[in-house]
Amino acid sequence: MDRQQEFVLRTLEERDIRFIRLWFTDVLGFLKSVAVAPAELEGAFAEGIGFDGSAIQGFARVYEADMIAKPDPATFQVLPWRAESPGTARMFCDILMPDGTPSFADPRYVLKRALGKAADLGFTFYTHPEIEFFLLKNLPEDGTEPEPVDAGGYFDHTPHSAAHDFRRNAIMMLEAMGISVEFSHHEGAPGQQEIDLRYADALTTADNIMTFRLVMKEVALEQGVWASFMPKPFTEHPGSGMHTHMSLFEGDRNAFYEPGAEYQLSKVARAFIAGLLRHAAEITAVTNQFVNSYKRLWGGVGASAGAGGEAPSYICWGHNNRSALVRVPMYKPQKGHSTRIEFRSVDTAANPYLAFAAILGAGLKGIEEGYELPPGAEDDVWALTPAERRALGIKPLPQSLDEAIAAMEQSELMADVLGEHVFDFFLRNKRAEWEEYRRHVTEYERKRYIAVL
Ligand code: GLU
Ligand code: MG
Ligand code: MG
Repeated sequence: MDRQQEFVLRTLEERDIRFIRLWFTDVLGFLKSVAVAPAELEGAFAEGIGFDGSAIQGFARVYEADMIAKPDPATFQVLPWRAESPGTARMFCDILMPDGTPSFADPRYVLKRALGKAADLGFTFYTHPEIEFFLLKNLPEDGTEPEPVDAGGYFDHTPHSAAHDFRRNAIMMLEAMGISVEFSHHEGAPGQQEIDLRYADALTTADNIMTFRLVMKEVALEQGVWASFMPKPFTEHPGSGMHTHMSLFEGDRNAFYEPGAEYQLSKVARAFIAGLLRHAAEITAVTNQFVNSYKRLWGGVGASAGAGGEAPSYICWGHNNRSALVRVPMYKPQKGHSTRIEFRSVDTAANPYLAFAAILGAGLKGIEEGYELPPGAEDDVWALTPAERRALGIKPLPQSLDEAIAAMEQSELMADVLGEHVFDFFLRNKRAEWEEYRRHVTEYERKRYIAVL
């Protein structure tokens, strides 16, 4: 047994923890959990815990259903909302086949493989997400609009509101689980919140995002409200993005930073951005995986209307340009190590493991192939006419799940990054989602047509 495993076993005893939840994530990004007793844990560290993989979305076909969950002791945390004795803790798991090899269906493994590829090139991939979501008074299941907890807007300070206490409690709970928060504020829509996590290596960030979603739901429940990560719950309000800031490091040197270069962006950074742009359409089914995701990208509202409001709709990059897919934030000259780029299409319902793997894969491809970065867009790209955008070579992101699937189907990059199993499962699942949606007659259509036609 190694030192981390011993630490876990000792902590269980010292803190009277009687339940250990083993967590993993299915292909669509839903958290799965199986609880084990402390007595089982030594065996779980050595051999893992068997479970029926065919019951999990995307994991196994029925005839190869046996799979093994092996806890990663580095991810051990006590759950603060179950802190009273006897306590409950959690660990993320790697999923293995019965012969002990990694399961190709495990999103955590897909990301580890992508990070391994970056490591072969000498890079560590760091990410920091800005996570937006809604706090709601109710979750109507009949499809009618939910009621947000407040009527606040961007950066509003809403004293004594549910949202204000909520952010305070949520951040304390995240910190208690070792997840550092950088900023938090009220976002643009009523009830909409944003909490930004401090940067970490991408595997830690992806684990943290999975934890984050659950913590937000738990804290909301404590306050008698609901948290939702649906990308676009309201027609008339902006949706919830998960803008992701990222950089590559070589040892402790930021490989995106070059003093004196334009925007301090190194050649590596420029090629990485070029990779993101060239492969943007192919990776969108993964970064924006639901029918509803495209209502956010193309559903601009109000004064900031454009196509997608503050969400990107067109494939371009810009320096501090919020209509661009890739934004290079304003830099602080004294802070070279914080040079980074922000990728803005990802939404808050993406599977973070697969999304980070896809983004990294696209960026690394740019570096490996030495892609040239096209000129940046310094205009508001939503305000340009279609002809102007065409002249500038600015293409749209996929406009529906259907278009995104079509782009992914043609993508060698995505087949390679996800591996054949996840690639096929994902496309099959998303095709079925699209087809179900396509045949559905909506309230919108009846309202609009029934009387006039
Ligand atoms: N809610 C916007 C989006 O969906 C982002 C707003 C912002 O700039 O933070 O991407
Ligand atoms: Mg925001
Ligand atoms: Mg942002």
